[in-house]
Amino acid sequence: MTFANLGLSDKVLAAVTAAGYTQPTPIQEQAIPHVLARRDVLGIAQTGTGKTAAFVLPMLTKLEQGRARARMPRTLIIEPTRELAAQVEESFGKYGVNHKLNVALLIGGVSFDDQDTKLVRGVDVLIATPGRLLDHFERGRLLLTGVELLVIDEADRMLDMGFIPDIERICKLVPFTRQTLFFTATMPPEIRRITEQFLHNPIKVEVARPASTVATTTQQLVKTGREGHEKRATLRELIRSAEGLKNGIIFCNRKSEVASLHRSLLRHGFSVVALHGDMDQPARMAALDRFRRGEVTLLVASDVAARGLDIPDVSHVYNFDVPHHADDYVHRIGRTGRAGRSGVAITLAAPADTKSVAAIEKLIGQSIPWMATPAVTVVDEKPAVERPRHRPARGHDRRPAPQAKRPASAPPQAAKPKAAARAESPRDSEGFPLPAFLLRPVPVKA
Ligand code: AMP
Repeated sequence: MTFANLGLSDKVLAAVTAAGYTQPTPIQEQAIPHVLARRDVLGIAQTGTGKTAAFVLPMLTKLEQGRARARMPRTLIIEPTRELAAQVEESFGKYGVNHKLNVALLIGGVSFDDQDTKLVRGVDVLIATPGRLLDHFERGRLLLTGVELLVIDEADRMLDMGFIPDIERICKLVPFTRQTLFFTATMPPEIRRITEQFLHNPIKVEVARPASTVATTTQQLVKTGREGHEKRATLRELIRSAEGLKNGIIFCNRKSEVASLHRSLLRHGFSVVALHGDMDQPARMAALDRFRRGEVTLLVASDVAARGLDIPDVSHVYNFDVPHHADDYVHRIGRTGRAGRSGVAITLAAPADTKSVAAIEKLIGQSIPWMATPAVTVVDEKPAVERPRHRPARGHDRRPAPQAKRPASAPPQAAKPKAAARAESPRDSEGFPLPAFLLRPVPVKA
């Protein structure tokens, strides 16, 4: 099967050739002819399958007929996160190089007025997160009655993020006769209900997750203590001793953990950026760009922030926390070992994680071996680079501190029992040794 057989326009085919694609992926092959035939499509597929082009390419073809009117977008794409929305906008730039279409992005963290100006000009493709879209609508700046095609992308992620009521509202605001393309990686009952309510006789296209990841990735579990400082020490040791570490993503379960781990790694001199929901939009985009361009080695992220992002293949994935949902494990490790390349996925597991690990092993149908010699103790908590907490100095994004700072064979210190080491060296609430001046007795005047 070639792209030329799918019914796409010449302009789109030229852009696909320029992008270097020679063959449609299974979801593209199965979905594109139905989208062009104006059928509703229920696509069960996750990132990495080429699903964005599966809806963008036929949309471009269809949009060649007709014109946009002020405040009345012709097509609407809903994405759960700002990054995903921005990524889809980039896809329109890439696949739509030969088109003169107005594409607007409505996401939080960006000026309302600029977005409004674009809406007034008339928009062929509106890409939005649910909250910002409804804000514009409620202010009377946007009419959804001209929408001919609605795309709901990453629907199960919307469910996780509590967006389903917004989605239901949006589906009721667009014309009943519009075409709907609905993409989700999984089909929990809540999502099934929505599809039954809002899709009309859809074509169901299901593609397997890129399963090769599990096969080509070396997976390991590492024993760690449950305390944050113990896990951070374990992680640092793993990164410092990693072989062939080109770049890596470190996943945490909570966004607060992402922020504190990021700060800690910076203090220890690692080249790292963070991605979590509390960062403002420019900061998130800047972090992601630096990681994509290879300016920094490590990215600390939460599942929600990272889900669906088109991040190039990474050499290492670290699960700082064992994910609560086994599915998330597969998503996380899917970031490495792509296209037959080998990848490494290491999961820090404390005794309390036994149940979650068992659920993951059941899902992937194999047991994950334990790393033989993690050889990590918490006595190496002293930061390699001490920095002020609030003002990271210029050039803090360095390569990880060389392991030679503490030779692996420095046993006397490493062999000390934890409690004894702690008693000798007082520590702060994060487990870092307290600076000497804080330990000196403070003279008290009578
Ligand atoms: P997606 O699943 O939409 O996030 O796409 C994953 C990646 O696959 C993106 O980097 C696309 O540029 C790339 N891609 C999409 N379609 C094709 C194709 N037919 N051939 C090669 N790469 C593709």
